[in-house]
Amino acid sequence: MKKKKRSEDTAVTRRMSIKWRVFSGFAVFTAVILFMMWLLEIVLLPDIYRGIKYYTVRKTAGQIEEKLSTADAADYAIAAAERYELCVYMVDPQGRVLLTVDHVKNCAIHHINQLGVFSLYAQAKESDGESFRVYRRDRDRNVYYPADENSGEGNYDSESLIYAKIVTYGESREGLLLLNTILTPVQSTVTTLNVLFVGMTVLMILLAGLLAWLLSRHIVRPIEALNKGAGRLATGDYQTRFDEGGYREAAELGRTLNYAAVELGKVDGLRRELIANISHDLRTPLTMIRGYAELMRDLPGENTPENAAVIVEESARLTSLVNDTLNLSRLEAGEHPVQIAPVAVREVIGALCRRYEKMLESKGYRILFRADGDYVAETDEGLLLQAVSNLLGNAVTYTGEDKTVQVSLTASPEEAGYLRITVTDSGEGIPEEKLPLIWDRYYKVDKEHKRAAMGTGLGLSIVKSVMMLLGGNFGVRSGRGGSSFWIEIAGTVR
Ligand code: ADP
Repeated sequence: MKKKKRSEDTAVTRRMSIKWRVFSGFAVFTAVILFMMWLLEIVLLPDIYRGIKYYTVRKTAGQIEEKLSTADAADYAIAAAERYELCVYMVDPQGRVLLTVDHVKNCAIHHINQLGVFSLYAQAKESDGESFRVYRRDRDRNVYYPADENSGEGNYDSESLIYAKIVTYGESREGLLLLNTILTPVQSTVTTLNVLFVGMTVLMILLAGLLAWLLSRHIVRPIEALNKGAGRLATGDYQTRFDEGGYREAAELGRTLNYAAVELGKVDGLRRELIANISHDLRTPLTMIRGYAELMRDLPGENTPENAAVIVEESARLTSLVNDTLNLSRLEAGEHPVQIAPVAVREVIGALCRRYEKMLESKGYRILFRADGDYVAETDEGLLLQAVSNLLGNAVTYTGEDKTVQVSLTASPEEAGYLRITVTDSGEGIPEEKLPLIWDRYYKVDKEHKRAAMGTGLGLSIVKSVMMLLGGNFGVRSGRGGSSFWIEIAGTVR
């Protein structure tokens, strides 16, 4: 058993702690973010950058074209060139320059000769009036050549995009609008980003580590404290209380554990009380039996019928204690079989009263039974009789000088369709503040009282359990002039 526990313990400790879980979660998260950044900034950036450039020149060319027939076409071209760092150039089919705005250092348009311009014209004509072409600047010779001609691959220091668009202006005159923009800066940007990226990676890993540490500390601390407390609770320290502060889950767990500690404490208290009660109740008659038996054995003169009667009485008490205890635990565990059948209540309760009276006649007790109707009920006769006998037994024990107990069978004054059986005595009654407690197991109002010492303290808890099993009600009214205990079950007059 121990071995198993230990192997379970190591299996638990071998599991990943929440600190590491949080940390690895953060590490994965950081890695994903860094990967996405790398993908966006370094791998996709050149393409995105180029895409934006292509889009900008095309859009700007379209806008310039719209303005061509107006007077402020040149102003617009200048503003656009400045804004987007472009070179704008326009020629007519004869090669005459109509417009030139240069906002690009070393503009490629100015480096390609007339032939280059005409080749762009021809290319645009072939492909729906527009064309893009990338030029590279040869590092050594300061000449531009189209990127699609493989010559000098790798030996260039900058790339330029020339967009050519065939436009009409004036009265349907045709011209070629050329826009140039430099593509190369993206390369230096990527290099800068690369350096930044390494720096950010280091920074983010440090930051993620720090955050994971702080977060896990925040999460783990209350759990560790609760775990320590729960360990104490497990060893039987029911006074342990848990912190209900911190974040919600920890607070809820704390509250639940506090509730468990209080309830376990109650159960433990009850268990101790139960054992103390039972052992006390068992010890008293056993001591008596043993004492009287020894007396009778050692002193022949004490061998009297009175002493033998004490032994018989005390054995009977032991028997009823054991029976009551068994009965009650069976009732409370719901194991008691219930046999529902029509019961002629007036007859059976009347017969019970007569039996009791007969038994106690010699001691001068009177049990007066009165019924205001011929009631019948669908119930378990045995259980009903048990409840009424317990009340009757108590009433006989505690009734006053007149030694009279009254039993009545009436309709319930509170619930329609219910009958009520009331057992009334003329005793001293029960103090008001004790009334709610008398239905508890082993509760005795006055433990020192000679009469109470005779009982088991279980009678009324059996009545309560029986009534709950039969779906009935129960209660008591008590004052100086005596007590009235009542029970109710569903039942009607025949
Ligand atoms: P017990 O076997 O001791 O009578 P019960 O559960 O039947 O146990 O009753 C619990 C306590 O309630 C008794 O010890 C007694 O103090 C009080 N009690 C019960 N019935 C009466 C009564 N008719 N008059 C006065 N006190 C009563």
